[in-house]
Amino acid sequence: MFDYLVVGAGFAGCVVAERLASQYGQRVLIIDKRDHIGGNCYDCYNEAGILIHRYGPHTFHTNNRKVFEYLLLFTEWRYYQHRVRAYVDGKFLPIPINLDTVNQLYGLNLSSRELAEYFERVREPAPQVKTAEDAVVSQVGRDLFEKFFKGLTLKHWGMEASQLDASVTRRIPVRTSRDDRYFSDRYQGVPKHGYTALFTRMLRQPQISVLLNTDYRTILPEIKFKRIVFTGPIDEYFDYRYGPLPYRSVHFEYETLPTAGLPEGTYQPTGTVTYPNDYDFTRVAEFKHFTGQTHPLTTIVRQYPRDSGEPYYPIPCEESKALYQKYAALAAKEKNVWFIGRLANYRYYNMDQVVEKALELVEKELAL
Ligand code: FAD
Ligand code: UDP
Repeated sequence: MFDYLVVGAGFAGCVVAERLASQYGQRVLIIDKRDHIGGNCYDCYNEAGILIHRYGPHTFHTNNRKVFEYLLLFTEWRYYQHRVRAYVDGKFLPIPINLDTVNQLYGLNLSSRELAEYFERVREPAPQVKTAEDAVVSQVGRDLFEKFFKGLTLKHWGMEASQLDASVTRRIPVRTSRDDRYFSDRYQGVPKHGYTALFTRMLRQPQISVLLNTDYRTILPEIKFKRIVFTGPIDEYFDYRYGPLPYRSVHFEYETLPTAGLPEGTYQPTGTVTYPNDYDFTRVAEFKHFTGQTHPLTTIVRQYPRDSGEPYYPIPCEESKALYQKYAALAAKEKNVWFIGRLANYRYYNMDQVVEKALELVEKELAL
């Protein structure tokens, strides 16, 4: 007899299981249909012995001190500030757009003040910033939008930026300085020994049992528990009663290459390079930048967006929000079941947001 069945062993499920067991002495069964813990943050060593992230590169970043301190219980951190280049007009330019981006793109020598004036001249103010296109064009104008955002957004989401919520591109700041970090958050890094090691430590408690390779529905008749915390797709939980929620998927294509002869011993200048206008893939990530591993080989991953496959990205647009609300109404009526995480809340959450929400759920609702 378990107190809790936790479905999904990603960040949402692991945080909930860990807190319930360690702080409230609850007996927890955590189940995942995959053959590993960690959800989309899972990392492992590939055949060449290089640490890779199985579901695309993950950089941890947060301004939430509580979240950061909580994770410190389970890992040390490797100091890493994520940097990205966008391949535009044959050049690798800094993204987020900053002073160097504009100067290098147009062959100018603007100062920060002059760049602010330039943005003021070219921006197209929108009375209401509603879409992902508005969010960029109202800050930096149409040309920069078309060169850096239009093509990549269309490839990644399969929709025009004008059909997506402003929150999608608002994730990326615009800077007039030379700061070329992708995130501005106070705490940034990757777990020193990897994400999987972090999750392993979270779940290593006598009160927690882990079951992998198992869809929870197949064993419901065989197990006894009092409450469920569900972190899988909410539409799947309700057997797609109102039809499937739209998700965007990604096909990850890995390649391992020798580093001999490569400048700086790496394939590309930064952890990630985006390709807004060239090729079918959206980004290429090189894991050594993230992990700091030294190895005579290097592994890269190319990301090809897909309509179907693993549900990675909830799509932030009006139609999907309306459909999600119908599922959320069903969820609110469920007794002894809680829904949490990127798939169960159908939100485009980063890791730190998932941890924050999971901690809140335990403290404010489950601990009562
Ligand atoms: P998940 O990690 O998706 O976990 C849900 C788990 O539930 C899965 O393991 C799944 O197998 C399991 N499950 C589903 N249905 C069932 C079932 N029926 N039975 C049993 N198990 C089931 N965030 C950042 O902060 N920084 C980044 O750099 C970053 N990069 C990202 C890159 C990509 C390509 C993607 C897709 C996401 C990225 N994220 C990043 C977001 C991050 O991955 C998520 O915020 C986080 O993984 C969400 O955790 P979760 O537990 O909600 O969901
Ligand atoms: N984006 C873009 N060009 C870039 C980087 C980002 O158009 O060079 C847009 C794109 O729509 C993307 C969104 O900004 O989906 C958010 O980017 P982020 O890097 O946060 O995406 P994620 O890491 O969540 O896939």
